[in-house]
Amino acid sequence: MNDCLFCKIIKQEIPSYKIFENDYIYAFLDINPVSDGHTLVIPKVHAENLSTTPDLYLSEVNKAKKIVAQILQEKIEGIKGFNYISNQEAIAKQVVFHYHEHILPKFKEDEGFLHDKNVNLKYASLEDVFNEITK
Ligand code: 5GP
Ligand code: ZN
Repeated sequence: MNDCLFCKIIKQEIPSYKIFENDYIYAFLDINPVSDGHTLVIPKVHAENLSTTPDLYLSEVNKAKKIVAQILQEKIEGIKGFNYISNQEAIAKQVVFHYHEHILPKFKEDEGFLHDKNVNLKYASLEDVFNEITK
């Protein structure tokens, strides 16, 4: 049995706010965003991290990062840049062991970074930002 949280999200057993999907990847809003539009891109194959993800999926994740960033930039006002981040192993603060890339929209300098507690979001809920992105 596969108990992986992100595999369950791919299979829609756990709900998520989907931003983009194709045969190889699934992209959805992070449940605990550090900036508006904070999105995770994951391969549709279970691999713990980047090192063990098949090359085909790695390349598709990378292509999807570009597509998702374009979607976010078009739909959310004020995005001036992005951090693309992937944590590998607990020492690097990896918490979910299904390879994922974070896409963090940047609106101003010195704003929230990964796992920050003091974040300043414009949208009150994930649903609000999702509605903005998909309208
Ligand atoms: P990392 O493993 O890179 O440190 O972080 C895992 C990320 O997954 C965190 O930013 C966390 O907020 C996000 N996350 C954990 N559980 C869920 C979930 O059930 N749904 C969604 N959308 N994101 C999650
Ligand atoms: Zn998985």
